[in-house]
Amino acid sequence: MADTVELLDLAGIGAGPFNLSVAALAADNLPAMATRFFDAQSRYIWHEGLMLPETHLQTGFLKDLVTGVDPTSRWSFLNYLVAHRRFYRFLNAELPTVSRAEFSDYLRWAAEGLDNVWLDHPVREVTHDGEHFHLRTDARHFRARHLCVGSGKRPWLPDFARDFQGERCLHAESVALRARDFTNQRVVVVGGGQSGADIFLNGLRGHWGPPKTLHWLSRRRNFQPLDETAFTNEYFTPGYTRQFADLDADVRRREVAAQKYASDGITPAALLTIYQALYNRFDVMGEPRWAHLLPHREAADMVRCGDGFGLTAVHGPTGIRERFDADVVIFATGFASALPDCLAPLAESIGRDERGEATVGRHFLYDWQGGTDSRIYAVNAGRSRYGIAEPQLSLMAWRSGVILNHLSGREVFDLEDDQGPIEWRPLNPDGAAQ
Ligand SMILES: Cc1cc2nc3c(=O)[nH]c(=O)nc-3n(C[C@H](O)[C@H](O)[C@H](O)COP(=O)(O)OP(=O)(O)OC[C@H]3O[C@@H](n4cnc5c(N)ncnc54)[C@H](O)[C@@H]3O)c2cc1C
Repeated sequence: MADTVELLDLAGIGAGPFNLSVAALAADNLPAMATRFFDAQSRYIWHEGLMLPETHLQTGFLKDLVTGVDPTSRWSFLNYLVAHRRFYRFLNAELPTVSRAEFSDYLRWAAEGLDNVWLDHPVREVTHDGEHFHLRTDARHFRARHLCVGSGKRPWLPDFARDFQGERCLHAESVALRARDFTNQRVVVVGGGQSGADIFLNGLRGHWGPPKTLHWLSRRRNFQPLDETAFTNEYFTPGYTRQFADLDADVRRREVAAQKYASDGITPAALLTIYQALYNRFDVMGEPRWAHLLPHREAADMVRCGDGFGLTAVHGPTGIRERFDADVVIFATGFASALPDCLAPLAESIGRDERGEATVGRHFLYDWQGGTDSRIYAVNAGRSRYGIAEPQLSLMAWRSGVILNHLSGREVFDLEDDQGPIEWRPLNPDGAAQ
């Protein structure tokens, strides 16, 4: 029976941008390899639940699926523009950054165009028989020599909010999944990152109808900008990432925490747009202030109050507990790493760190003990190993190159980078200046 089941060299779980990049580079550069990437989505939309008006990439469009390692690939963003006959108009528009809607359409175009990407194929279960992996989708069964896990992260919200989840208490990742009406509602947004900013701005503009009040809480001391300056952007280079991966685990943890706003802040453009919208509405037009910005508050508790909620937050500088009555609470509180449910049969044999997270080692491999000749690669799972670039688009093409070079056992992609302006490694271990 097993021999009649199609055998793949590499099976991908998920075809979000990260695995899509592996798929695109494998399709044209490793045609002799049988690769296939399965995604649950039947209609490809990038983070559909957060596809809001006026949202933009935090990253330059050249950091697309392929360009960083294979600029002549047909799956580049530039080729997408040419194929859609809007290359010149794109240039004339002088967009400082591409909209999320356009980038999503680029990803859809690639996903639908690649023969090795199969949409509408949720992977339900993965087992290993000692030689091969067995993947089961709803209708099919495949064997694979190796896996590449790219199922993304799970929405995270505080424990106290979990039991209240529903139409009126939701994580940001589902806010755009259906039509919503917040007219005359008291809306509270929790979370001071980019998603919180996008939701606040849309609330302010009445995207879901004019709310009665709109409160935006952030644990951060202020509405912190993303640091997009040149030397900070060096964190998003292969050279930095390589030396970072060699550091001690506790140093890596410390550095990731210190670099938070290089990846988790709000774009200066979005902050300015919000500030200008507030100025125009409340200072120039003189509307009574119904939108409130509340940084340095930690949401701490929540109770149900009739049809709404009472949310308690602790004011950082004073420790005073404040209460916010709300009809709708939206948690823009980020995402957490988790193995997909379909990997449950293998989970026990995947190594974990002290926080229980699956550990990613060299070549983006899970530390998996299950089969000698089978490997499990993982994308978007190695932040503590590779640093803050790991969950970002910036190095996805490079990471795909690392994975495919390792998979094929040869240097399909030239991944060497010239020395940049910064010396990250010690120059001479004896400490004598030269
Ligand atoms: C709203 C938003 C905007 C972002 N913007 C930027 C940005 O501008 N710049 C930047 O650098 N980073 C950005 N990021 C961070 C990061 O680049 C994205 O989250 C990116 O989508 C991660 O890609 P991924 O492929 O790991 O996961 P995802 O995009 O989450 O894709 C995972 C895919 O796996 C599929 N899947 C899951 N389980 C299964 C299964 N069992 N079987 C089959 N398929 C499955 C899902 O359907 C999904 O398509 C953003 C993140 C968010 C949430």
